[in-house]
Amino acid sequence: MQRDELEQTVARVREHWAQLQRRQDAMLEAVDVHCPAGCGHCCTTPVTEASVLEMLPLASDLVERGEAAAVRQRIAESGKPCVMYEGHPTDPLKGRCTVYELRPTMCRLYGFAARTSTERPGGKQYVPCVRHEELQPEAVAEAQRKLEAEGLDIPMIATEHARVMMVNRNLGRETLPINEALRRALDLVEEVRRDSEMSWAP
Ligand code: SF4
Ligand code: SF4
Repeated sequence: MQRDELEQTVARVREHWAQLQRRQDAMLEAVDVHCPAGCGHCCTTPVTEASVLEMLPLASDLVERGEAAAVRQRIAESGKPCVMYEGHPTDPLKGRCTVYELRPTMCRLYGFAARTSTERPGGKQYVPCVRHEELQPEAVAEAQRKLEAEGLDIPMIATEHARVMMVNRNLGRETLPINEALRRALDLVEEVRRDSEMSWAP
């Protein structure tokens, strides 16, 4: 991959995320589902997965800022589900994403998306997170009601993943544990930059 292709790929993934964000913002004007302050429950799950493609915006940013080596070190040392999560010192289920603007698609959809209904053929089913279900059952029920009765636009998980994947099928098809996907994305960004610098060398 050439450097300009890498930059275009990153820009296109970010465009999809911006569109997704606008739709989720509109959804959240219609229903009051929200994350409780400080909640980091979903970032501690050991099964968060992403494609290398989705981690390219973050990897490019880390390389640009000279932070790639430090993040690689954290990946090598950490058994944590996601090395970009900063947990509260006394309550690991509370914390924050340190790279919120560049988080991958799954992190954006978690708790704020829908899927094809398993109960009603052709229907859609809102997929709240476990904390939303526990703490905001009325808002969750309202989202489902508006999805069914009013056609509320709730992004579909499979469709959103497919949209991003189509930016580059080779890099987007396979999903990996999030830290591994980030490590491979760092490898790719650094390789592309090295090749580009060598091609300009006298
Ligand atoms: S999506 Fe759910 S688990 Fe994740 S931060 Fe929000 S409330 Fe917490
Ligand atoms: S990228 Fe951010 S939102 Fe996603 S799992 Fe890691 S810390 Fe959580």
